[in-house]
Amino acid sequence: MIYSFRNFKNVEYFAFGRGCFDRLDEVLAPRRTDRGLSVVFLVDDVFRDKPLGRRVPVRERDARIWVNVDREPTTENVDRYRDEILARADGVPPDAVVGIGGGSVMDYAKAVALLVTNPGSSAQYQGLDLIRNPGVFKVCVPTLSGTGAEASMTTVLVGPEKKLGIKCDYTMPNQVLLDPDLIADAPREQRFYTGMDCYIHAVESLAGTWRNAYSDAFAEKSMDLCRRAFLEEGPDSRAADEHLMIASYLGGLSVTYSQVGACHALSYGLSFVLHTRHGLANCIAFNRLEKVYPEGVRVFRSMVEKQGVRLPAGVAAGLSPEQMDRMVETAWGLEHMWDHAFGKSWRDKVRKEWLRDLFRGM
Ligand code: NAD
Ligand code: ZN
Repeated sequence: MIYSFRNFKNVEYFAFGRGCFDRLDEVLAPRRTDRGLSVVFLVDDVFRDKPLGRRVPVRERDARIWVNVDREPTTENVDRYRDEILARADGVPPDAVVGIGGGSVMDYAKAVALLVTNPGSSAQYQGLDLIRNPGVFKVCVPTLSGTGAEASMTTVLVGPEKKLGIKCDYTMPNQVLLDPDLIADAPREQRFYTGMDCYIHAVESLAGTWRNAYSDAFAEKSMDLCRRAFLEEGPDSRAADEHLMIASYLGGLSVTYSQVGACHALSYGLSFVLHTRHGLANCIAFNRLEKVYPEGVRVFRSMVEKQGVRLPAGVAAGLSPEQMDRMVETAWGLEHMWDHAFGKSWRDKVRKEWLRDLFRGM
C-alpha cells in the first residue's frame, strides 16, 4: 500500500432521500443575487415532456437549457452553452449552474459552471489543475446512478484531441441532491450499464497500487451495495434505487482517493473512437479482463446473467487500422490508470500489442 500526499476537496452540501428534489428551490435560495441570470438549469432532454421536466423550479431570472446527451459531453458544446449563457446576461456569470440528469448532464453542468468564469475554450483546461478561477456554485442532481460524477473532482469531456477530464478542486460539486425516485424509471439496460460503471469503479479502486484504507472503505461498501442491487433486489425494487444511489456516491469518493484502472483505460479508447457510452464501454472492456480482475469479472458475469442483459459483441470488428491505432494510443496514454493497476513499471506489462488483442476480442 503506497500513501502519497494528496489533499482533496469534498462535496460541500449533501441531501439524500425520497422527494428531496422538491427542496431544490429552497437549497438554491441563498445563492441567488440580483445580478444577471440567477440559476441556469441544464436538464437532460429526455425529461422535456416528463413530469420531472415540469418540476424544475425555474424562476423569473433563471434559464433552463434542455441538454441532449446522445453523444458524450464535448468541449465544443460546453463552450457553446457558456457563450449562450453569458450572452443572455451581458457577460455576467450566473449565480449557480444545476445539472439534472446522468453523468453526462452533471459533467456538462460542472464544466459550464467553471467556464463561465474562465476564458477561452474548455479544451485548453482538459488536464489536472489548469483552471484558474473557481467558477460558480455547482449543483448535481443524478437521474441515473453509477458514474459517481456527483462526488468527483472531474468533468469528463471529449475534446478535439482527447477524452479527458477537467480535474481540479473547483470541479467538485458544491451541492448534491440524491433523490432515489429520480432513477426509478431509467431504462433497464442503461441503468445496468451505468450501475456497472459503479461496480467497476469499486473493483478497480480496490485492485491497484494507489489503494489505501480510506478509498478501500468506500469501495468495499459501494461494491456490497451494487451486489445487493444487481444480484438480490432487481431493477424494480425501491431499495435497489436507494442502494445504487449511495453506491455511486461512495464509488466516486473511493476513486478520487484511489484511481480507476485497466478497464477504464480501454473503455476511454472505445468511447473516443466509437462514441460508445461510458457504462456500456466499461462492460464490454471489463468482460475481457478476467485475467486482470478474476473475481470482479466472475461476479460481473453473474450480474449480467441475473439481469438478463445481452452485451454486444464484435464492436471493434471492421475498424480501420488507423482507428485501431487511435484506440490503442488513447488507452495506452492513460498513464495514471495503468500506474494504479500495475504499478510504476506498468510499461513492462502493458504492451500495445496486448491492448490491440483485447480490443480485437471486444
Ligand atoms: P448518461 O448521462 O450519458 O445518460 C445515458 C442515457 O440515459 C441518456 O440517453 C439519458 O438521456 C438517459 N437518462 C438519464 N437518466 C434517465 C432517467 N431517469 N430516465 C430515462 N432516461 C434517462 O449516462 P451515465 O452513464 O450516467 O453518464 C455517462 C457519462 O458520465 C460519460 O460521459 C462519462 O464520461 C461520464 N462520467 C463522468 C465521471 C466523473 O467523475 N465526472 C465518472 C464516470 C463517468
Ligand atoms: Zn467510470
